[in-house]
Amino acid sequence: MSTADLLAKFHKIAADPAAQKARYLAEGRKIVLTAPVYTPEEIIHAMGLVPMGAWGADIPLNESKKYFPAFICSIMQSILELGITGAYEGVSAIVIPSLCDSLKCLGENWKYAVPSVPFIPMTYPQNRKPDFGRAYTKAGYERVIADLEKVSGVQFEQEKLAESIRVYNAHNAVMREFAAVSAKHPIGAGERADVFKSAFFVTKEEHTALVRELIDALRGEEPKAAKKRIMLTGILADAPKLLAIIERNGLQIACDDVAACSRQYRTDVPEDMEPLEGLAAKFAAMDNCSVLYDADKKRVDKIVQDAKAAGAGGVIVVLTKFCDPEEFDCPLIKRACEAAELACIVVEADRQMENYEQAATMIEAFAELV
Ligand code: SF4
Repeated sequence: MSTADLLAKFHKIAADPAAQKARYLAEGRKIVLTAPVYTPEEIIHAMGLVPMGAWGADIPLNESKKYFPAFICSIMQSILELGITGAYEGVSAIVIPSLCDSLKCLGENWKYAVPSVPFIPMTYPQNRKPDFGRAYTKAGYERVIADLEKVSGVQFEQEKLAESIRVYNAHNAVMREFAAVSAKHPIGAGERADVFKSAFFVTKEEHTALVRELIDALRGEEPKAAKKRIMLTGILADAPKLLAIIERNGLQIACDDVAACSRQYRTDVPEDMEPLEGLAAKFAAMDNCSVLYDADKKRVDKIVQDAKAAGAGGVIVVLTKFCDPEEFDCPLIKRACEAAELACIVVEADRQMENYEQAATMIEAFAELV
């Protein structure tokens, strides 16, 4: 397939998760939703179930307002809205991790608001690195396994988890490679987002094969004229209107620290450990993320280092409204960028935003500084 055909395919998958859900159900597969962030997909995959990302959607919020106050992030609200309005009918369960206060509320509300889709909690420790933290994480995974066995009737096997870990590590590697190649063989911000977003809606085997094909196609093309290079950071940055403004201003995404994009692919599971221990070791090894306990705020330094290494002249922080973990980091990121002579702006976004005029003005001015 040509690069254009492949990008069209990624767009189709990213824009229509309902079609993928219908396809897997028609094939007789069972689907388990994985809410953000760091849901242990490998376990779900190892049990022959299809993990499918649930990061909400750009939809009006009505029913979810009966459960959430207005000042909670729209990712959570729109996941619940989709659940209440039946978008997830037919799936076997949803796994929701506990990594921020909003996520904790989502799980509790889900039980009452969407009784047709069982809620499976994944409770992570704050202190994930010491032995007791790893033991706690492993116990959380064991709880998820027991709940999955109950809802699916499938028996978990460690050997199958080892196979799934290899599948997921291979996918992590191909996504890291894509991020690097897409910066050298520039593709648009919207196209880049489609490649990342589509990973939530098809199996990792399918996605790895497609991304591999795209990387080979991009490598076969002449690099396009260099644009101004920037870095994106935040939880989510898939709003088409925002990405169109970035493209319109001639900005190329050189790298990202977005939770729904590169952040989730940085750390692999060690393959030489007992599989469940390895999965807990991966969580312990993860760093540089607003939802992971980080007393020294090393994430801030990493953003500056990555931006510099990728030749980015500036950083756009896409701040999901009412996301406390990201809001805490914002002033530190701005200060660190200033000290490193990187332009930096904070663009607030949520899933109900229609008018991006203010963002457009900020990004135009930012493009002059990059
Ligand atoms: S980390 Fe932020 S964006 Fe993600 S669920 Fe929590 S509040 Fe919402």
